[in-house]
Amino acid sequence: MSQDTTLLYAVSRSSVLCASLPNYRDTCRLPGDTLPHPSAAQVFACVRLGRKCEFKELYERAMRCLRSYFPTNLTRWRQLSRYVPPQFTMIDAVGVVNIARLAPDLSILPTALFACCVSTRPEIVVGDAQLDQRHGRLSEEDVALCWKARTHLVAVTSSSPLVVVSPILPSDCESASLHGDPCKAAAPPFLQAVEKQIAKDENNPLQSVVSRFDEGLLQKLCPQCLTGLKGRSQKPARQNWNKLPSLLGLENLDVEWEKGDVWSPVVLLHANSDRF
Ligand SMILES: [Zn+2]
Repeated sequence: MSQDTTLLYAVSRSSVLCASLPNYRDTCRLPGDTLPHPSAAQVFACVRLGRKCEFKELYERAMRCLRSYFPTNLTRWRQLSRYVPPQFTMIDAVGVVNIARLAPDLSILPTALFACCVSTRPEIVVGDAQLDQRHGRLSEEDVALCWKARTHLVAVTSSSPLVVVSPILPSDCESASLHGDPCKAAAPPFLQAVEKQIAKDENNPLQSVVSRFDEGLLQKLCPQCLTGLKGRSQKPARQNWNKLPSLLGLENLDVEWEKGDVWSPVVLLHANSDRF
């Protein structure tokens, strides 16, 4: 194929891909928008082709899609109900990490690498034929980052409920709970719940702590102690978000990472999310 023919083919392919990719607004898309969601293959192809052939509009449109779903601020991240965009699978997070390195646009790297770390799919680390064809494997460097980060993520995820629950363990609050029992009777069941959570080796430290306790357990507290527990439960998620790049071994990343006030409330929009 001559150079001119190759370019013509690329331009033609770019037009098709561009038309197939929704025109993302500069503002973030929110779940519930009616625009169709592009597949991982579409988005990755647009980034690669746009970059290679210098089709800026195509490249920017695809990157805007990825930036929208792999943000640098917690409020936006919590508005999303999945770790990856709607038409992506968890192993497509590997492709996003590779795009972040290739583009380069390292702003999407922390949350993409985080999605790899929380996934239980072994293909993310070892790869497979289908994955290789779609977007390659993680580099050895990124596999090493995931390996180390998982330990850090499990550690902070396990310590978060202790921070939230510890004030009620020695409590001698005599106030009545919803069921009429003294509030202080709730301390032992809360401790058992925390022990169970630690044993699970969960590694999502951005999950709201209060959402990990079932409603029956929460109702063992009096209204005042329950309000205090809910208030404290916001703090660890925000603290962990603030230090997420360093938990992932990306502390030297040149990215404007939003570090919010640990006491500011985080709006949770999706009660049925798979992450919270
Ligand atoms: Zn109480």
